[in-house]
Amino acid sequence: MSRSAALIAAHRGGAREVAENSRAAFRHAIALGADQVEFDVHRTADGGLAVLHDATLERTTTGTGPVAALELDEIRRLRLRDRPEETAPTFEEVLDLLAPAAIGLRVEIKAGVEFRRYAGIETAVVAALRARGLLERSVITSFLLPILEAAAAAGAPRLLWLVAPIVQASLGSTARLTDLARAAGVGELGLHIDRLDAATVASVRAAGLEIGAWAAHEDAQIAKALELGLSVFTTDRPSAALAGRRARLAGARDAR
Ligand code: FE
Repeated sequence: MSRSAALIAAHRGGAREVAENSRAAFRHAIALGADQVEFDVHRTADGGLAVLHDATLERTTTGTGPVAALELDEIRRLRLRDRPEETAPTFEEVLDLLAPAAIGLRVEIKAGVEFRRYAGIETAVVAALRARGLLERSVITSFLLPILEAAAAAGAPRLLWLVAPIVQASLGSTARLTDLARAAGVGELGLHIDRLDAATVASVRAAGLEIGAWAAHEDAQIAKALELGLSVFTTDRPSAALAGRRARLAGARDAR
């Protein structure tokens, strides 16, 4: 496959096309034929795993306060604000939905309020994926390297470090990023699409790591992600990204 055929990950299921982190969004990503579906996991007061983006409940659900303050049974009774016919999904429910499909899982392990890590979340996520035979189909992602190190220790085979622009800027060089990733046992980097260029892609690959992008939502960002020959990128608009990739591949065939 050509380098232009980056894998496309439906971010939160495709957040500009369907309510983020909803069952409908995950079904949408499967139906479209996205390569991966990205979603976010937090830990509840009783050690359960819930799928939503924020560390607090109010933006996307009918609840309030930190996810970590409620038990899983309380969270699963909340409604999604942008899709009131649905309750907030648990990790287990999302795995039930995704397991029969061929789609890859891109599981982002979150920290809690004020970036406080959830004790034991990495082990719990990896154990749930392994129990269903989904671990090999999954890549674990996080903005925090210590979360990825804990996931690796728990047996996760594929790890992708989401590099925040402020972290990238403060480290100053791509070599420092790749050194940190390799020391942590991380095989893939994900940079913000606006902080990526061909030279950065080449130096990450030269260091023996894979390179992808996140937040490629606008048409120009999607086109850039396809042009750079990344391994994967996340987008809130998987329909647009898949159409763009099909057009590029068709153009490449016509040019031969
Ligand atoms: Fe995420």
